[in-house]
Amino acid sequence: MKITLNPHAKDNATRNALVAEGGFGKHYTDHMVVCEWSEKDGWAEPELIPYGPLSLDPATAVFHYGQEIFEGMKAYRQPDGSISLFRPEANAKRFANSAKRLALPEMPEALFLETVETLVKQDAGWVPNKVGESLYIRPFMIATEVGLGVRPSNKATYILIATPAGAYFDPSKAVSVWISTEYVRAAQGGTGEAKCGGNYAASLVAQKAAAKEGCDQVVWIDAKERKWIEEMGGMNLYFVKGKGADATVITPMLTGTLLPGITRDSILSVAKDLGYKVEEVMLSVDDWRDGVASGEITEIFACGTAAVVSPVGSAKSAMGTWVTGDGQPGVITMQIRNHLLAIQHGTTADTHNWVHKVC
Ligand SMILES: *Cc1c(COP(=O)(O)O)cnc(C)c1O
Repeated sequence: MKITLNPHAKDNATRNALVAEGGFGKHYTDHMVVCEWSEKDGWAEPELIPYGPLSLDPATAVFHYGQEIFEGMKAYRQPDGSISLFRPEANAKRFANSAKRLALPEMPEALFLETVETLVKQDAGWVPNKVGESLYIRPFMIATEVGLGVRPSNKATYILIATPAGAYFDPSKAVSVWISTEYVRAAQGGTGEAKCGGNYAASLVAQKAAAKEGCDQVVWIDAKERKWIEEMGGMNLYFVKGKGADATVITPMLTGTLLPGITRDSILSVAKDLGYKVEEVMLSVDDWRDGVASGEITEIFACGTAAVVSPVGSAKSAMGTWVTGDGQPGVITMQIRNHLLAIQHGTTADTHNWVHKVC
């Protein structure tokens, strides 16, 4: 990797003050990694350079036809002061799958991991120290062929940036959701399984509709039968049936239209490790409403890298409004959240070999 250090890198005191501000995406680290690809020459050597604006021709493909993919992952401070990633190989694989779907070049896993490790090592001082805090890492790739012709781009640029993320979990507040029957996130054969900006662009109007209904987030149902629960905003969903040691933890099955979350996948194992039954199921809006009414569904939570686990409280839809629990996070929700965080921060045994030490 070519390295060009930032001559204006923040001094320790300034950086520590920015990290201490918390929040999400307010400040970016001193460096970024850029790696160019062309059909002719393949992947070039990646470069670590000072963080800064890009200069692109206005006719660059990504601005017009949205050929773009991204990932989201985190670096976590460990008790001994070292820094680890969580299942970064899974992000590398998903990034390659997203690339394939968007007709972008698949970046080799080793190259992807090299870029992430190099940036984290260089900007290690930006990784916060407390449990629940982390350095959020955003790899993305854009189509950079210049021209307005509609075709898969023969040039692409991969970029990696990072931003400190504070602990923004508020345990007293469950998320309220609007189940959208007006808009669809993904259909069979579409891009629902790919992590691409286009999915988000198409979802924002529904997010607006949810806000208008007084809800925090939108829940998506399937495009065909318009009844099966898929996911919530940019997070996957989990439902807890029953209580205590007999509880079953269930999540919507991956049908080809859901984004296969790494947190979702990890929780399938964590819940089993904690002694719960786990199931991947087809769950309808009626099952949700009836399960809440009968008391069978006791807890609901959403999960993803950014927020880890967020409790879901009230659900509103064209079919009515119903509330799960008392607005407080459920016992099993919190147990799963804390266990996953403990693995990520190295305070409990990593029995699945998920933690990847960087420095
Ligand atoms: C990224 C993402 C998720 C969560 O995936 P994680 O790997 O757990 O962060 C869920 N749904 C959508 C739509 C996403 O983009």
